[in-house]
Amino acid sequence: MADIQGSYDDLFTAVPTALAASLDAGDAGAAVAVFVGGEPVVDVWGGFADAERTVPWQRDTIVNVWSVTKTMTALCALVLADRGELDPAAPVARYWPEFAAAGKEAVLVRHLLAHTAGLPDWDGPVDDLYDWPSATARLAGQAPQWEPGSAAGYAAPAAKAPLERTTIERRAVGEFDVLIDIKFAGICHSDIHQAREGWGEAIFPMVPGHEIAGVVSEVGPGVTKFAVGDRVGVGCMVDSCRECDNCKAGLEQYCTGGGMTGTYNALDKNGEPTYGGYSQKIVVDENYVVRIPDGLALDVAAPLLCAGITTYSPLKHWNAGPGKKVAIVGMGGLGHMGVKIAHALGAEVTVLSQSLRKKDDGLKLGADHYYATSDPETFTKLAGTFDLILSTVSAPLSLDAYLSLLKTDGAFVNVGAPEEPVALNLFSVIGGRKTLAGSGIGGIQETQEMLDFCAEHGFGAEIELIGATEINEAYERVLGSDVRYRFVIDTATI
Ligand code: NAP
Ligand code: ZN
Ligand code: ZN
Repeated sequence: MADIQGSYDDLFTAVPTALAASLDAGDAGAAVAVFVGGEPVVDVWGGFADAERTVPWQRDTIVNVWSVTKTMTALCALVLADRGELDPAAPVARYWPEFAAAGKEAVLVRHLLAHTAGLPDWDGPVDDLYDWPSATARLAGQAPQWEPGSAAGYAAPAAKAPLERTTIERRAVGEFDVLIDIKFAGICHSDIHQAREGWGEAIFPMVPGHEIAGVVSEVGPGVTKFAVGDRVGVGCMVDSCRECDNCKAGLEQYCTGGGMTGTYNALDKNGEPTYGGYSQKIVVDENYVVRIPDGLALDVAAPLLCAGITTYSPLKHWNAGPGKKVAIVGMGGLGHMGVKIAHALGAEVTVLSQSLRKKDDGLKLGADHYYATSDPETFTKLAGTFDLILSTVSAPLSLDAYLSLLKTDGAFVNVGAPEEPVALNLFSVIGGRKTLAGSGIGGIQETQEMLDFCAEHGFGAEIELIGATEINEAYERVLGSDVRYRFVIDTATI
C-alpha cells in the first residue's frame, strides 16, 4: 500500500511510480491511497496478472494505461471539479489525448467516479457526479467495493487501422453476470465491415469478435443457469430490452425496445462501450450466454455462434429439409456452415460459388452439386430450380439473376451484409410470386438449439486456427475470399 501525499500535479507521476514499485516487488496487486491536503482523495486497487509483471509491454500497459485509465481520469475529474473547470471536452484531454479524441471522457469519468466512490453505477445526472464536495464525502465515507478487471485484447484503434494488442476494462461481475475465460474467437466478415466503418460510423477503439467460446470462471450471486467450469458461448448480442414482443418470443435479435446490444461496437445500458471476443475475458449477463455441448470442441464451436446461427435460423424458418432444393451462395464462413446445416436438415444442397476452386471441399461438406457463378451457363442451366436460395455474399450481387433461379413461390433469403445498396428489377419477384427476404443471426434459445443440433450431427466449423498476431493478415485473406472456412483466434496468444 502506498500512501501518496502531494499536490495534484505530483500525483500524475507518483501513482505510476508506486505501481511500478509494486510490480518490481512482486506484489500480488497494488493499492494506492491518495491524500491531498491530508484528505483522502482516491483509492486505487487491483490484482496483477502474471503477464503484467513479466511481459514488458504488459508491464508498460499497467503502469501507463492502467494507472491512467483507473486513476488519472478519476483524479483529473476530481481535480478539475475542484477547480470548477470540469469541461469534458478539453481538460481531461491534457492527460489522456486518445480518449479525448474518441469523445468518451464523460462516460469514463462518470463510471470511474461512481466506482471509485464505491457506489453502484450512477444513473442520475452526470453533472451531479462532478460535484466536488459530494464526491469527496463519498470517497471519505465509503469502503471501496470494486475490483477492476482488466483483460488483454486486440483492438482497431481507429477505422481501417490495423488491429493491435491492448488492455481493456471488463466490468465487475454483477448479480446475473458470468465471467468467461475466452478460449477461442472466430473472425466474421462483419468484424471487418465494422472495423473499417463499412456499415457507417463505429466506436473506437474497437475490439471485434462475436463468435466466442470459453469457460465460465466466475458467476454472480443471482446466476442460476451456469456454474464455474461450464463450457459456454457468446454470439452477436449481450443484451436487449427483454420486454418487447420480439424479446419475449425469443427473437431478441429483432428487439424493438431499443434494439439488441451488440457484443462490440455498441453502448450498453450504462452507456459503456461493449468490447468483443478478441480478448481473454468477457463479462456477460447469463441470459445472453449459451451452453456448448460436450461433444463439440471449443475451437470449432466458436464460429457457430454467428456463422452457425445465421444460416441455421433462415434454413429452419424457410423449411429447408427433405424434398427441398436449397442453394447456398458464397462458400465462406457462413456459406460453409449453410452447406453443412442444410445437408444435415435433409435438403438437396447446391453451392453457387464464384469459381470451382472449393468444389471438392463443398462436396465433402455435404453439397450435392457445385456451380461457378462466373460461368454464365450456370444461370441458364439452373433457371427455375430452387425452393430456397440463401445468399451469404458480403458484396453486392445481381439479385435479378439469382431470383431467376427460384421455382414459383421460391424464396431468396439474404444474410450477406454488403456495404453498398443493390439494384432490383421488381419484375424479378412478380413473375413466379417469389419472395425476397433477409434474416439476422438468431435468438438466444434458437442459438442453443443450433448448437445442440450441430453436436447431435457431430460437426462444428472448418477452421484455420491462428495466433493474435495473424489477425490483420487473416482480414486480408477473408477480403480475398481466401478462407477455409473460418479463421479462429487462439486467445491464449493475445
Ligand atoms: P466470408 O467468409 O468472407 O464469405 C463470403 C463469401 O462470399 C466469400 O467466401 C465468397 O464465396 C463470396 N463472395 C465474396 N465476395 C464476392 C463477390 N464480389 N461476388 C460474389 N461472391 C462473393 O464472409 P462471412 O463471414 O461468411 O460473412 C458473409 C456476409 O454475411 C458478410 O457481409 C457479413 O457481414 C454478413 N453477416 C450477416 C449476418 C446476419 O445476421 N445477417 C451475420 C453474420 C455475417 P465464394 O468464394 O464461394 O464465391
Ligand atoms: Zn458475424
Ligand atoms: Zn426487446
